[in-house]
Amino acid sequence: MTESADTIVIGGGIAGVSAAYELAAEPSSVLLLDAEDQLAYHSTGRSAAMFILNYGPPSVRALTAAGRAFFETPPEGFAGHPLVGPRGILTVARTGQEEDLAALVSEGQGVEAMAPEEALAKVPLLRRERLAAAAYEADAREIDVHGLHAGYVKGLRARGGRIVTRARVQGLERRGARWVVETTAGPFSAPVVVDAAGAWADEVAALAGLGPLGLVAKRRTAIIVNGPGEGCDSSAWPVVADIGHSWYFKPEAGGKLMVSPGDETPVPPCDVRPDEMDIAVTVERFEQVVDLPVRRVEHSWAGLRTFAPDGTLVIGWDPRASGFFWLAGQGGYGIQTAPAAARLAAALVCRNPVPGEIQGTGLDVAVLAPDRLIGSIS
Ligand SMILES: Cc1cc2nc3c(=O)[nH]c(=O)nc-3n(C[C@H](O)[C@H](O)[C@H](O)COP(=O)(O)OP(=O)(O)OC[C@H]3O[C@@H](n4cnc5c(N)ncnc54)[C@H](O)[C@@H]3O)c2cc1C
Repeated sequence: MTESADTIVIGGGIAGVSAAYELAAEPSSVLLLDAEDQLAYHSTGRSAAMFILNYGPPSVRALTAAGRAFFETPPEGFAGHPLVGPRGILTVARTGQEEDLAALVSEGQGVEAMAPEEALAKVPLLRRERLAAAAYEADAREIDVHGLHAGYVKGLRARGGRIVTRARVQGLERRGARWVVETTAGPFSAPVVVDAAGAWADEVAALAGLGPLGLVAKRRTAIIVNGPGEGCDSSAWPVVADIGHSWYFKPEAGGKLMVSPGDETPVPPCDVRPDEMDIAVTVERFEQVVDLPVRRVEHSWAGLRTFAPDGTLVIGWDPRASGFFWLAGQGGYGIQTAPAAARLAAALVCRNPVPGEIQGTGLDVAVLAPDRLIGSIS
């Protein structure tokens, strides 16, 4: 027996569950398939969990801004506690980087220049000699990614959607007006498939006979290290980031710090692991900017940030195949853009108008369409 639905969403990371949740609000049946035995195992479970308005290309900033109300006031019953909490971001420049920092202040929304002494008052262990200039974005937020993902899963089920794990998609064939989706959990069918397979989105499209959009998965490393310890409370520190994107760190539970070297190493889609050399580089860069010796790397991981060639998300119908919809290329912004991207994807799938909160940003959704990338890959 082939189980059928109106829409099949492939991928149970934040992109897939959020889109499935929004689609299930329509009078249609939704089935979500994921290859793993637990959802959010890949990029979604490995992020830095930040919401930063002044991050990424203009289309990303627009989607982030459009989703803000969802984070701050989620639908009734969506989550038992707030999805976002305060966590400003302090961006710092060393000598020679001041112009880049000035550009961030002048072009960003709500980014204030901050005197180095003030920055030091916020994060006293920063090395003064490395601090030529600073800027502060008070409106950045820390996201409860687990709570957000769980809210979408719970809401999807409450709206009648079904989730099948250990269902790796291995074949996609158009038969008449439907896609037949062959998986390790058996066959499924639907007139519409949404490709939200993260780093594997091009591979999933290939199963349907569609050429790639040129998505590239890039490895990013993160480590957890000791914080400053007794006498210095780091829990209210902001995220601290280098304007040159070569490191950032962020307070974590238990007085610890998460540190990343901001690496972007292209790799084939996989269950990615951190490289020992990247871990060593992370420690070295951290110790150069913070007066805090790393006693021990307590934990390390890596995740994939998957980008289209122009760095913008891909949301739209594939003109080459009836009923094939892309929701991919979330890069380093897939959590913060998820609420708006999901609403937009659901509206486009259901041929509804672009949601008002996205229209309100002035974003031309054509910049997200897969058409722009088709044919550009040799
Ligand atoms: C270190 C790091 C820090 C980050 N920090 C932030 C941040 O602060 N803020 C932010 O907004 N974003 C951040 N990101 C980016 C964010 O994590 C991603 O953009 C987002 O998680 C992508 O979600 P996704 O659902 O597209 O992909 P994924 O979470 O990878 O989900 C894709 C799913 O597709 C499934 N799948 C793949 N192939 C198949 C198949 N053939 N059949 C069935 N299922 C399949 C996989 O099992 C997986 O569950 C960060 C990423 C990293 C690595």
